[in-house]
Amino acid sequence: MDIVDIKSNLQEVELRICDACLRSGRNREDVTLIAVSKTKPIEMIKECINYGINVYGENKVQELNEKQAQLGNNLHWNFIGHLQRNKVKYIIENVELIHSVDSIKLAEAINNEAQKKNVICNILIEVNIAGEDTKYGVTPENACELVRQIAVFDHLKIKGLMCIAPYVDNPEKNRVYFVNLRELLVDIKNKNIDNVDMDVLSMGMTGDYEVAVEEGATLIRVGTGIFGARNYL
Ligand SMILES: *Cc1c(COP(=O)(O)O)cnc(C)c1O
Repeated sequence: MDIVDIKSNLQEVELRICDACLRSGRNREDVTLIAVSKTKPIEMIKECINYGINVYGENKVQELNEKQAQLGNNLHWNFIGHLQRNKVKYIIENVELIHSVDSIKLAEAINNEAQKKNVICNILIEVNIAGEDTKYGVTPENACELVRQIAVFDHLKIKGLMCIAPYVDNPEKNRVYFVNLRELLVDIKNKNIDNVDMDVLSMGMTGDYEVAVEEGATLIRVGTGIFGARNYL
C-alpha cells in the first residue's frame, strides 16, 4: 500500500474549504467535512480520528457496521451509497443520516424499520442533477413531488438534498449542477411542506468540493483527498 500522509491531506482539505468559504462569504462552521472512508482500513480511520475528524461516510452496509463496531460510539456515520430495501434494518440504528433516498419504496422501507425500532431516521433525497444514465437519484423535475410523498412518513425526517455530480477534469464544469441543486432546495423549502427541513445540501467530492462549497454545500464528502486513491469503488 502507498504511504498516505493523512495529516497533511487533512490540512490541505481544511485550507481549501476555508478559502472557498472566504471567497463566497460563508462561515466555515456551516460546512461539515465528511471523511469518506469506504474501502479504507480501520487504522487509517483511527489516524483520522486523532486529527479531530468525527464524521465518516460509507457506502456499504456491512462495511459501515463493522467499522462502527470497532470504532465505538463517538463518531457520526453517514450512509452515502445506494441502499437496498432488504438491508435497511441492518443500518437504521447505526447512521445519523442516509444521503441516498430516491424512491417512495425505499422511504417506506426505512420508515417501517424506524417505526419498529422507535427512532426517527434523518434522510436526504438524492437527485440525479445532471441526468446521467449511470446514476441513481430522482430527476430534478420529480424531486418536489417525491419530497411531498415521503414527507407523510412520520418516522422519517427529510433534511435536504444530495447529488453526485459528474466525474469531470475541470470542477468548474460542475458549478452549474451545484447551483441547480441549491435552487431546487430553495424552491422546495419555499413550499413549506410539513415535516421537511431543506437545510442540508450534500454535494462536492474530492474533485469538486471547493466549487460545491462556493455554491452552498453544507456537507461535503471527501474520500480520495484524505485517504488517497482507492483500489476499487
Ligand atoms: C466514494 C464517494 C465519495 C468520495 O469520493 P472521492 O472522489 O474519493 O472524494 C463521495 N460521495 C459518494 C456518494 C461516494 O460514493
